[in-house]
Amino acid sequence: MSETPQMPPQAALIGGEWQATQALLDMEAPASGRVTTRIARGQAAEVDAAVSAARRAFEGELGDWSRWSTRDRGAWLLAMAAAIEADHAQLAALECLDTGKPLTQARADISACARYFRFYGGGADKLHGETIPYETGFTVMTLREPYGVCAQIIPWNYPAQIFGRCVAAALATGNTVVLKPAEDACLSVLRLAELATQHGLPAGALNVVPGLGREAGAALATHPGIDHLSFTGSPETGTQVAQAAAVHHVPVTLELGGKSPQIVFADADLDAAFDTVVRGIIQNAGQTCSAGSRLLVQREIAEAFTGRLVERFAALRCDAGEADADCGPLINARQKSRLEARLAAAEADGIRIAARGRLAEGASKEGHFVVPQLLTGIPDGHAVLNEELFGPVLAVQLFDDEAEALRLANATDFGLCAGVWTRDGGRQLRLARGIRSGQVFVNNYGAGGGIELPFGGVGRSGHGREKGFEGLRSYTRIKTVAIQHD
Ligand code: NAD
Repeated sequence: MSETPQMPPQAALIGGEWQATQALLDMEAPASGRVTTRIARGQAAEVDAAVSAARRAFEGELGDWSRWSTRDRGAWLLAMAAAIEADHAQLAALECLDTGKPLTQARADISACARYFRFYGGGADKLHGETIPYETGFTVMTLREPYGVCAQIIPWNYPAQIFGRCVAAALATGNTVVLKPAEDACLSVLRLAELATQHGLPAGALNVVPGLGREAGAALATHPGIDHLSFTGSPETGTQVAQAAAVHHVPVTLELGGKSPQIVFADADLDAAFDTVVRGIIQNAGQTCSAGSRLLVQREIAEAFTGRLVERFAALRCDAGEADADCGPLINARQKSRLEARLAAAEADGIRIAARGRLAEGASKEGHFVVPQLLTGIPDGHAVLNEELFGPVLAVQLFDDEAEALRLANATDFGLCAGVWTRDGGRQLRLARGIRSGQVFVNNYGAGGGIELPFGGVGRSGHGREKGFEGLRSYTRIKTVAIQHD
């Protein structure tokens, strides 16, 4: 590895101070199963203190964040982007160790995190309300106001990127934040919070309480003092946090993953489609909400296209993140055994594993590796087509025509992303409109990318939008002011 990562504090960031917690949690490296460090195990008391600090910061009683102009907030975000870039090697080393992802991907994630701060830094003073024509003698305007205290519960697959996506947008719009990172990977998040305080973010604007979902996470989602909740993770936990937030009428953004199709027609640029289809499923070992985990391929090219995939999958190599192979390990033993059980069940149902990647010789036997796999011969409606496997597993289905492709694409409860590969302009537009999902990519696929592009799901993938300018809007609410003046 290029750098030995410097471990962040074993504490929670509350009101600008790093505060020790009574207990600590072991952090395990997914590539070796070894404990690398320990982190704070926040409880309801720490969450309560963090929400109170964020409230006082929002009301102007702690620090001076609430008095900063939009221009100054933007300038701070730009400075934070530069600080992240200056710390890039350290942050990437932490992300690689902590999540197990290949170093090149970890580096790309840190760059993306910096870009979120740069994008939202530029956007902070460009979001505004409207004036509305109304009755004679009236002037009516809308004001875009921050919610107040934003609770953010984030997962382990892209800690640094999702920190950038959520924290930068919430701060840019004048909110204050209480963030609960995931217990499986949060070292980069703690380091990013440390950078924020070192670079002049006023006390209480950002509070971070690491810990378990059922403890710190549940305490945050149920807290009566939050004004907005953004959650990224599993649909099951998403339901729980949304129910908890509903008790206090707190608006919720849910980003809950997907089962996204890549649809390849015979007339497509098949070389471009091929490479992108492979990348779209092995990125971060398939632990990507927007992974292209279903391949729908037109029957007349299916044999040739799948044949190439079999060769490529057999050559894919898994190793520890620092070895920078095609795939890293899964995040933990639970995710590994969950995936292996689903693959065994699929095989028992007659589904064929047409190709398997391999484990590098030097890879630790204690690492949570599952090699990339290609599934074929899947009956319509089988669970592997409608379940987020969260691993490097591509499920292949064949179709005859456009109507069948659309039917199969939409035959899932999820609806996050889709890739459409065809040179036919009319078909591009019909499918872009017909597919039930938050994003459609035509002749490209943006798994995990697109800071500028609104992102979010329909159905089981959740609701609300983050990223892009839509992400900024979603951290504000509209107030209508109607003035009668004569
Ligand atoms: P999870 O949804 O349980 O965890 C995500 C976050 O929620 C973590 O910070 C966790 O601590 C927190 N959390 C857990 N229980 C909570 C609760 N009761 N109240 C409040 N917060 C809580 O996900 P997981 O168990 O780590 O992974 C399970 C599955 O979720 C994966 O197999 C995958 O399918 C899916 N997942 C999706 C994404 C995504 O980006 N869409 C990310 C991670 C996991």
